[in-house]
Amino acid sequence: MKNDYYKILGVDRNASAEEIKRNYRKLAMKYHPDKNSGDKSAEEKFKEAAEAYEVLSDPEKKDIYNRYGHEGLRGTGFQGFSGFEDVFSSFGDIFEDIFGFTSGRTRARSAARPGADLRYDLQISFMDAAFGTSTEIELEKYENCMECGGTGATTGTEPEICPTCQGRGQVIQKSGFFSISTTCPQCRGAGRIIKNPCRNCQGTGKAKIRKSVQIKIPPGVGTGSRLRLRGEGEEGEFGGQRGDLYVFLHVESHKFFERNEDDILCKVPISVTQAALGTTIKVPTLNGEEKIRIPKGTQYGKIFRLKGKGIPHLRGFGRGDQIVQTLVEIPTDLSRKEEKILKELASLRGEL
Ligand SMILES: [Zn+2]
Ligand SMILES: [Zn+2]
Repeated sequence: MKNDYYKILGVDRNASAEEIKRNYRKLAMKYHPDKNSGDKSAEEKFKEAAEAYEVLSDPEKKDIYNRYGHEGLRGTGFQGFSGFEDVFSSFGDIFEDIFGFTSGRTRARSAARPGADLRYDLQISFMDAAFGTSTEIELEKYENCMECGGTGATTGTEPEICPTCQGRGQVIQKSGFFSISTTCPQCRGAGRIIKNPCRNCQGTGKAKIRKSVQIKIPPGVGTGSRLRLRGEGEEGEFGGQRGDLYVFLHVESHKFFERNEDDILCKVPISVTQAALGTTIKVPTLNGEEKIRIPKGTQYGKIFRLKGKGIPHLRGFGRGDQIVQTLVEIPTDLSRKEEKILKELASLRGEL
């Protein structure tokens, strides 16, 4: 047996629309699910009041109810309410008015905040940068506290709607003709306050954890390359997306090789006689030793290019080159005999 709608809202049959609305607001505030979490009887009262208000605020339904009662409304197909979503969707405007939001869902969406992106600086060897590698890093980050599920409220309790801003997180201050919206001083914009903070996270809803992350480094990266690992950042709030993890790479220098984009440079010493007479020398490459033919009369600083022996291109195919530069070394430890021969050479060339 359904209760009388007028009784539910605590108004008499001649009550004005204003009065009906006012009383309904009071009841809705009192029995709102956010304030009475898990309380079944409050939930019933909340729905009952919403149903009564829907009928009594609608002249047509009100008229049918006044004449034929609950029975009459059933004949029109009026069902009452089955759940909170119904209540919220039918009363968007009044909830906007009272609570600053139109439904549980909308509120969750507007409060959703994405998790923070994280940065990790990773040093890798020259060879790992050239040919790629996979490695594991361990990072510290904040996740939603396991104890309270990220609410910050001690187990068994929930954060409450802030009474100062009614959950808006903003308060409106009127000054003369102007209204200024400012962050609520009580909840500092959160819209909620926590009476019993969770001990594990001191009410922050966050806890520091250590996590290992597997990282695959592609061939051809360099210092300043940045890897993005989607969803490995911090957890979002109120259903917000996870942040990303950015790994910034720093490539160590190499004994022989210098890097210039995808080319690598190495400097190879040769002797005066090798430079003058020509020879074959062995030079290190990324893939082991390689022979280079040094022609007669090679000058100091001459460049030889080994095609495709550089760093693999990060995007696309192929590799850079290896550039070999010859440094002609002047001997400083000549024996008597060597000196004699050089003098002979000099005199032949008219240089003495
Ligand atoms: Zn906690
Ligand atoms: Zn507040």
